Amino acid sequence: MDAIVVGLAVVLGLVTGSFANVPIHRWPRGGTVTSPKRSACPACETSIAPRDNVPVVSWLLLRGRCRHCDAPIAPRYAVVEFVTAALFGLIAWRWGVDPLLPALLVFTWALVVATAIDLEHRIIPNRLTYRLPFVLLPLVVLDAALAGAWGDLRRAVIWAIGVPAIMFAMAELFRLLRGKMGMGMGDVKLAVSIGLVVGYLGGIHLVVFAYATMATSIVVVVVLLLARRAQLASRIPFGPYLAVGALVPVLAPDASADLVRRVLGL
Ligand SMILES: [Zn+2]
Repeated sequence: MDAIVVGLAVVLGLVTGSFANVPIHRWPRGGTVTSPKRSACPACETSIAPRDNVPVVSWLLLRGRCRHCDAPIAPRYAVVEFVTAALFGLIAWRWGVDPLLPALLVFTWALVVATAIDLEHRIIPNRLTYRLPFVLLPLVVLDAALAGAWGDLRRAVIWAIGVPAIMFAMAELFRLLRGKMGMGMGDVKLAVSIGLVVGYLGGIHLVVFAYATMATSIVVVVVLLLARRAQLASRIPFGPYLAVGALVPVLAPDASADLVRRVLGL
């Protein structure tokens, strides 16, 4: 049973990961998901045939080039598909058949989209951050209703406001002290959804999120400094760190909570 759920989640991850490349390409350029209807090669604008639109496989078979004009197709397309499928598989493996699974998969998909766009364009579009809480909230309420977990739901709603409020305060403090922006408003808006989902998992998981975000950013910066790529370190936006930090309690809710409790001596 679990193997079937994991397999279905991986297939769902490949399909939705392939679809994720549409908003990742179009939203920062002011486009929408629905128009134009078909995906096309960004270079020659030939619409992509279904056989060339198979997640990961097509990119590998075509060696990352358009069949028609030979223009290189960014590895990002295959990477997004692979990462989404891998994350979906891991989450289904950890959670199994669970009423919260749809919320966790939607959340994960959105974090992949936010990371890909933020890395390339240094923005997280409102089209994502404004809509996401309205998709996640009903899914979380459904789980709370089925489990009778009204206390968890209340904590989720409180932290859907609390996490962005804290981040906004930190961003303002940073701006006052350093005279430049650290976090962007896109990060603060994304934090509404992070506070909602991670807050629903548990209070300790919000601490896990905070530690995991800080630890990820410190590790990446130190590695890049050791590799003498300080320039690159300063150009990485904050969104991807938030995404990784938020995925840690989703992927390993028990292990990460235990680790943080031990570190804090709780
Ligand atoms: Zn082409």
